[in-house]
Amino acid sequence: MQLLLGFALGLLVGYTAFRLGALTASGAAAAVGVGGLIFGLGGVPWASLLLLFFISSSLLSRAYRRRKKSMNEKFSKGSRRDHGQILANGGLASMLVLIHWYYPYQEGVWFAFAGCMAAVNADTWATELGVLSPTSPRLITNGEVVPKGTSGGVSLVGYLATLAGAGIIALSAASFTPSASFDMVLWVIVGGLAGATVDSFLGATVQGIYYCPVCDKETESYPEHHCGNGTTQIRGWRWINNDLVNLVCSLIGAGIALGGWILFS
Ligand SMILES: [Zn+2]
Repeated sequence: MQLLLGFALGLLVGYTAFRLGALTASGAAAAVGVGGLIFGLGGVPWASLLLLFFISSSLLSRAYRRRKKSMNEKFSKGSRRDHGQILANGGLASMLVLIHWYYPYQEGVWFAFAGCMAAVNADTWATELGVLSPTSPRLITNGEVVPKGTSGGVSLVGYLATLAGAGIIALSAASFTPSASFDMVLWVIVGGLAGATVDSFLGATVQGIYYCPVCDKETESYPEHHCGNGTTQIRGWRWINNDLVNLVCSLIGAGIALGGWILFS
């Protein structure tokens, strides 16, 4: 019954997001699957973290649209998320909720989920708010000043957004876990920060980065830029795309948060 209710809620959220232009049709279908599982098997606490991530990232990607417009080309897929992005951000979360369903009293699974959501939320907030930085970002590997939107570029504003994005998930998770200690919550935040940092590091090193000659812009999209023109590879490995990097980011967040729970429980 709760699973049915979960999928109904997932359908409502997926359809609304699709109508608002936050998701493509395939993204909406994937969101119904991920949302249905997490709402249905996880109940209110799990649903709350997922909704917090989904609603805040959708709102942020629409906020400051005019200021972002000039450099929107640099983002791989604009602000509409497709099924690859939903599965990259929600695949691990779906697996964790299945484990939670088998072992409902394992609190560590819940903390791993919190760390996973903290990482993807931190990364999304950093991407969406980092563009507001008054100064140009620096490459995380060598500190070189790079244009805004460059993969692997970090800034103070971006890092503050990372901290806020991880923090809000950690505090929300703590509100559903009266037994949680300060250390456990702190480790969820550390997991989020570490996941987002590794995301930037991979973006600066091994992630496949392309160039659109028509827009004269660096991009993460291949084989086609969203302007419709073909892109050529300039660095990184082709098989390490943005979705894989996001998945690694969520794994690191989950792993560190779980580690904190094991240490302090
Ligand atoms: Zn282009």
